[in-house]
Amino acid sequence: MYKLSIVNEDRPLDALYIPESLVCEPVMHIWLVKEVYEAFYEMNRALQREGLPSIYGRRGYLCFAYQKKLFQNEVQKNIRQGLKAELAYEKARRTLMPPGCSEHQLGLCIDIALHHMQQDNSISIYEESPQFHWMREYATSYGFILRYPKDKMFYTKFSYRPWHYRYVGIGHAKKMAKLGLCLEEYYEAFYKE
Ligand SMILES: [Zn+2]
Repeated sequence: MYKLSIVNEDRPLDALYIPESLVCEPVMHIWLVKEVYEAFYEMNRALQREGLPSIYGRRGYLCFAYQKKLFQNEVQKNIRQGLKAELAYEKARRTLMPPGCSEHQLGLCIDIALHHMQQDNSISIYEESPQFHWMREYATSYGFILRYPKDKMFYTKFSYRPWHYRYVGIGHAKKMAKLGLCLEEYYEAFYKE
């Protein structure tokens, strides 16, 4: 059940894990599994047909080494600001996953940007955008779910991230939306061995 894989600190991926059939998205130069790239492209076209501005993928597949670098940089930044190592790690953990623990390594998720050059990702930027409202309603029709919803932090154990969408395929996405389940709950209910 690759599309339903749960990756987190309890279930990290191997440092050597690389998904199959990665393709490079030509506008933002992020890498995604081909099926995800195609679904994202279709969703973006549908959004534009509704007269809404295009969305962009700010972050897609992240390899283990890159995750490690990002995380270490964040820890170092916190240490420079005067925190002890343990607290510096904890603070970094609130915004980033430790290496191997980010589901971005699956190549199935996209951090959405509303502008071509957008680097920041504050919650209000997304929640107030018409694209966000459209995606909350229709993303499942293209196989995407809002992976870390506000009301599911108990199950995801991760803070609310309105920009982070995960591809699970249309069938699963629609079923999860209909039942009101996040990925952890859905997997537990139907696919746990
Ligand atoms: Zn993300």
